[in-house]
Amino acid sequence: MASDVQHLSELQQFDREILRLKEEVAAFPKRIAQIEQRLAGTKAHLETAKVAVKADEAARRKYETAIQDLQQKISKYRDQSLAVKTNDQYKALMAEIQFAEQDIRANEDKILDLMVNAEAREKDVKAAEAKLKAEMAEIEKEKTEARQRTAEDEKQLAEWNAKRDTARAGVSADLLRHYDRVLKFRGSGLAEVRDQKCMGCQVMLRPQTYNEVRSGQLVFCESCQRILYFDLATEIAPERPSLTAKKRTRPKAHIDRAWIYRPDFAEVGEVFLAFVNAKGSSSRRVYDAHTGRKVGDTQHETGDFNAAFADDVSSGILLNSGLDEQQLEEWNPELPMTILDELNGDLKIARAETTSAETQSAPQTT
Ligand SMILES: [Zn+2]
Repeated sequence: MASDVQHLSELQQFDREILRLKEEVAAFPKRIAQIEQRLAGTKAHLETAKVAVKADEAARRKYETAIQDLQQKISKYRDQSLAVKTNDQYKALMAEIQFAEQDIRANEDKILDLMVNAEAREKDVKAAEAKLKAEMAEIEKEKTEARQRTAEDEKQLAEWNAKRDTARAGVSADLLRHYDRVLKFRGSGLAEVRDQKCMGCQVMLRPQTYNEVRSGQLVFCESCQRILYFDLATEIAPERPSLTAKKRTRPKAHIDRAWIYRPDFAEVGEVFLAFVNAKGSSSRRVYDAHTGRKVGDTQHETGDFNAAFADDVSSGILLNSGLDEQQLEEWNPELPMTILDELNGDLKIARAETTSAETQSAPQTT
């Protein structure tokens, strides 16, 4: 890895850590605000519950006063009844007493209702008080924790910022400007290349670009502009037959898909041909063996490729590499470098085998 890129890789790591810490610090007040909001809700509920209890108490006092008034009225009527002269007057007073007694019973019923209600109201107040107490304790705990964590984070931030400054000092000003600009727009300025893809935007690199990155040159992704780097340690090696393997499994005699190498294809010369049989027809794709670039359009013929492209099959070398038609479509118009490597590796093995087979079958002198 070039030293600029090495520094940028560190810088990216520091930038990420700094961002994470800043986000963490910013998250504390938000969390506390959330609890405070909940706390305000509980407080309001408690207030309402207390007001309801007070209103009930006032109503009860009102009914009790009314009952006292009615009782005084009744005793007044009874006094008056002793002094009446006529039967009608007496009856009228008795009716008044009856009404007053009815009124008293109605007020007593209301008081009873309030007493029944009071239990529920009391419970409501107690529950709200308990909730408030728990939330107050929680908020205190959160605040203390937030204060501690913020202090720790600030300390770490200062350390990361110092590291960041050092890393930035190791990168050229132009490159830093580019890194900062891409970082601002895309959230990261640097991307690893894996499987010939930019891991920042997932776009496949051109074989030439890929080779430049692999060789340690400073390259920007054409698609996302991130600065590209290649890490041998994390690159996933493509599944390919080992060049030192003594034997390879023989390609099957009857197959529906095949890679065939031809050293002498039309004006191109060395090519890799991809054959695929479909229902009653077959197709052929031609790729330059050196660049992986597709030559011409996909050709379709009726019948099995062994018959339809008999010339290619008879004059070419059948390779062992797997073939996936859908992937071919995705790779259009260029084979990824890894596939090209695999095909070339397979070709070497096939050639070595042919040579050794010829040597073995040579007439022996006795
Ligand atoms: Zn990219």
